[in-house]
Amino acid sequence: MKLKSLQISGFKSFADKTTINFEDGITGIVGPNGSGKSNIIEAVRWVMGEQSAKSLRGGKMPDVIFSGSESRQALNRAVVTITFDNTDHFLATDYTEVSVTRKLFRNGDSQYLINQSECRLKDVLNLFMDTGLGRDSFSVISQGRVEEIFNSKPEERRTIIEEVAGILSYKQDKQKAEAE
Ligand code: ATP
Ligand code: MG
Repeated sequence: MKLKSLQISGFKSFADKTTINFEDGITGIVGPNGSGKSNIIEAVRWVMGEQSAKSLRGGKMPDVIFSGSESRQALNRAVVTITFDNTDHFLATDYTEVSVTRKLFRNGDSQYLINQSECRLKDVLNLFMDTGLGRDSFSVISQGRVEEIFNSKPEERRTIIEEVAGILSYKQDKQKAEAE
């Protein structure tokens, strides 16, 4: 499984449709302060289901929509699509290429799609659960997160290890079964 591309449109400072293709090897994103590097990482977390506007440096979720600049009007919707090569079927689906899209409109309407088919947030979260990817995973480490992991309580650290080991979904199924 490999990250292939990220398409951003109307998300934060990316007013125009912007596509980043990830080639083999390591990709570095460089640019001056305020040029949008962190916004790209936030687009990755957002499309994988991030629900906390605060952790995306906003007050409410529509704050992620391009809010205008001196030369451009604000936009009405943000769209991000992330595409993975899944020829090894690391993501539990028959598709050899998997794309996840999230859209958000100013009126609060939102939409999630997996391979262009509308789905629920839950489906997106399930797709990434136990893969080490996803909004709560440790594949995206932002500033301050390292300290957070070191300073977390033993039970919280255990959850991290369970997610990495891939047993969190079984645990959640068990809790659900016990509650029923
Ligand atoms: P640094 O090197 O300082 O970490 P950076 O390259 O990570 O900078 P970002 O934090 O990604 O930069 O980008 C910040 C810019 O994004 C700011 O100029 C801010 O005004 C702009 N921005 C954030 N949200 C929006 C939005 N909703 N609409 C338009 N611009 C936005
Ligand atoms: Mg930054």
